[in-house]
Amino acid sequence: MKRINTFLFFAFCFSVLSYGQYKLPALPYKYNALEPYIDSTTMRIHHDLHHATYVSNLNKLLEKHPELYKKDVLELIQNLDQLPVDLQTGVRNNGGGVWNHSFFWTIMAPAGTAPMSAKMQKMLVDNFGSVDAFKAEFEKAALNRFGSGWVWLIKDSTGKLSVISTPNQDNSLMSISKVKGTPVLTLDVWEHAYYLKYQNKRAAYAKAFWNVVNWSEVERLATK
Ligand code: MN
Repeated sequence: MKRINTFLFFAFCFSVLSYGQYKLPALPYKYNALEPYIDSTTMRIHHDLHHATYVSNLNKLLEKHPELYKKDVLELIQNLDQLPVDLQTGVRNNGGGVWNHSFFWTIMAPAGTAPMSAKMQKMLVDNFGSVDAFKAEFEKAALNRFGSGWVWLIKDSTGKLSVISTPNQDNSLMSISKVKGTPVLTLDVWEHAYYLKYQNKRAAYAKAFWNVVNWSEVERLATK
């Protein structure tokens, strides 16, 4: 018991000392929650290793500028051009990696638990002509993204929804982004996101993704 208390005491001290540094958020569901569409091993590696590495790289990058730990990741990536020059590329890649993955987990849910409402359906019809036309455009953008990147459904300042894709860990919130908008849905199309289960078949992964979209969350973001 004493050893456990000692351990907890040091764990507490460590967590206080590391205050202000970025943490890996927990997945909002179990690793196997998105099976069979996204497999448990991929989720475990993607969250515990890939996402975790972006978090630790970002922490390491800011060691020389610890005052920046006070800012949240969104604030860092929204103001990339105001950061010290030696940090801009690193924060773009690793801060982007942290934010994009944290967001990605929240717009997915176990199949059948967060279906598309009539209201969400109408928003897609109004913006794309039909739900199928929206899905086709999104899947096409996933397939056409050469190399690594992300596909997004974003909302602009007038409320209009559109599909875009970004390279690497860029997103439409970044100060350096050509297209600006609020992300409401995204798909990670880096090979690490699908290779174990889908190998080179990115199109099959993009199609399977529709089964695990958290439409309640997408609607909340699209109507905010
Ligand atoms: Mn990823």
